[in-house]
Amino acid sequence: MHQLPQANVICFQGHCPECLLLEQSRTMVGNYDELLECPQCYLQIHLDGIKDIILRIRGIGEFLPQKTPAIPAHFSPILTRASLLNPLASDGTYFTVEGQLWA
Ligand SMILES: [Zn+2]
Repeated sequence: MHQLPQANVICFQGHCPECLLLEQSRTMVGNYDELLECPQCYLQIHLDGIKDIILRIRGIGEFLPQKTPAIPAHFSPILTRASLLNPLASDGTYFTVEGQLWA
Protein backbone atom coordinates (compact mmCIF):
# COMPACT_ATOMS: atom_id res chain seq x y z
CA MET A 1 0.00 0.00 0.00
CA HIS A 2 1.28 3.43 -0.94
CA GLN A 3 1.90 6.00 1.75
CA LEU A 4 -0.08 9.12 0.96
CA PRO A 5 1.71 12.47 0.92
CA GLN A 6 1.22 14.91 3.79
CA ALA A 7 2.09 18.06 1.82
CA ASN A 8 -0.37 20.09 -0.22
CA VAL A 9 -1.21 18.09 -3.29
CA ILE A 10 -3.25 18.86 -6.38
CA CYS A 11 -6.53 16.99 -6.40
CA PHE A 12 -8.62 16.03 -9.39
CA GLN A 13 -12.30 16.96 -9.34
CA GLY A 14 -13.27 16.10 -12.90
CA HIS A 15 -11.84 19.16 -14.65
CA CYS A 16 -8.75 19.05 -16.82
CA PRO A 17 -5.79 20.24 -14.68
CA GLU A 18 -3.85 21.56 -17.68
CA CYS A 19 -6.75 23.67 -18.95
CA LEU A 20 -7.29 24.99 -15.42
CA LEU A 21 -3.78 26.44 -15.63
CA LEU A 22 -5.02 28.42 -18.63
CA GLU A 23 -8.06 29.48 -16.62
CA GLN A 24 -10.33 27.34 -18.77
CA SER A 25 -12.69 24.86 -17.19
CA ARG A 26 -13.08 21.68 -19.24
CA THR A 27 -14.91 18.68 -17.86
CA MET A 28 -13.09 15.51 -18.77
CA VAL A 29 -15.12 12.80 -20.50
CA GLY A 30 -14.71 9.08 -21.03
CA ASN A 31 -12.95 7.69 -24.08
CA TYR A 32 -12.84 4.27 -25.70
CA ASP A 33 -9.67 3.33 -23.79
CA GLU A 34 -11.68 3.60 -20.53
CA LEU A 35 -9.78 6.74 -19.55
CA LEU A 36 -10.91 10.29 -18.93
CA GLU A 37 -9.83 12.69 -21.66
CA CYS A 38 -10.00 16.44 -22.02
CA PRO A 39 -11.99 17.54 -25.10
CA GLN A 40 -9.76 20.63 -25.39
CA CYS A 41 -6.15 19.43 -24.97
CA TYR A 42 -6.65 15.62 -24.98
CA LEU A 43 -4.81 15.11 -21.68
CA GLN A 44 -5.72 11.68 -20.30
CA ILE A 45 -6.25 10.56 -16.71
CA HIS A 46 -6.57 7.01 -15.46
CA LEU A 47 -8.92 6.73 -12.48
CA ASP A 48 -7.23 4.64 -9.83
CA GLY A 49 -9.02 5.20 -6.56
CA ILE A 50 -7.55 7.76 -4.19
CA LYS A 51 -4.73 8.57 -6.60
CA ASP A 52 -5.42 9.25 -10.24
CA ILE A 53 -2.74 9.07 -12.86
CA ILE A 54 -1.96 11.67 -15.53
CA LEU A 55 -0.85 9.71 -18.56
CA ARG A 56 2.27 10.65 -20.49
CA ILE A 57 0.48 10.35 -23.83
CA ARG A 58 -2.48 12.33 -25.18
CA GLY A 59 -5.74 10.87 -26.38
CA ILE A 60 -7.01 11.14 -29.93
CA GLY A 61 -10.44 12.60 -29.22
CA GLU A 62 -12.47 9.40 -29.56
CA PHE A 63 -15.02 9.97 -26.84
CA LEU A 64 -17.78 7.70 -25.64
CA PRO A 65 -21.26 8.75 -26.77
CA GLN A 66 -22.35 9.86 -23.31
CA LYS A 67 -20.83 13.24 -22.50
CA THR A 68 -20.82 13.08 -18.73
CA PRO A 69 -18.37 10.80 -16.91
CA ALA A 70 -19.51 8.95 -13.80
CA ILE A 71 -17.67 11.10 -11.28
CA PRO A 72 -19.38 11.51 -7.90
CA ALA A 73 -19.68 15.01 -6.45
CA HIS A 74 -17.25 14.26 -3.61
CA PHE A 75 -14.67 12.84 -6.00
CA SER A 76 -11.28 14.39 -5.22
CA PRO A 77 -8.34 12.03 -5.64
CA ILE A 78 -4.72 13.05 -5.64
CA LEU A 79 -3.06 13.52 -9.01
CA THR A 80 0.07 11.50 -9.64
CA ARG A 81 2.39 10.91 -12.58
CA ALA A 82 2.36 7.81 -14.73
CA SER A 83 5.22 5.38 -14.49
CA LEU A 84 7.68 5.28 -17.38
CA LEU A 85 7.33 1.51 -17.52
CA ASN A 86 3.58 1.11 -17.02
CA PRO A 87 1.43 3.89 -18.52
CA LEU A 88 -1.53 3.10 -16.25
CA ALA A 89 0.45 2.89 -13.00
CA SER A 90 1.62 5.65 -10.71
CA ASP A 91 5.34 6.37 -10.46
CA GLY A 92 4.75 7.20 -6.79
CA THR A 93 5.23 10.96 -7.12
CA TYR A 94 2.51 13.54 -6.62
CA PHE A 95 1.89 16.99 -8.03
CA THR A 96 2.22 19.51 -5.23
CA VAL A 97 2.35 22.77 -7.20
CA GLU A 98 0.51 23.67 -10.39
CA GLY A 99 3.70 24.39 -12.34
CA GLN A 100 4.65 20.73 -12.12
CA LEU A 101 1.77 19.91 -14.45
CA TRP A 102 3.69 21.53 -17.32
CA ALA A 103 6.76 19.38 -16.77
ZN1 LIG B 1 -7.39 20.13 -21.09
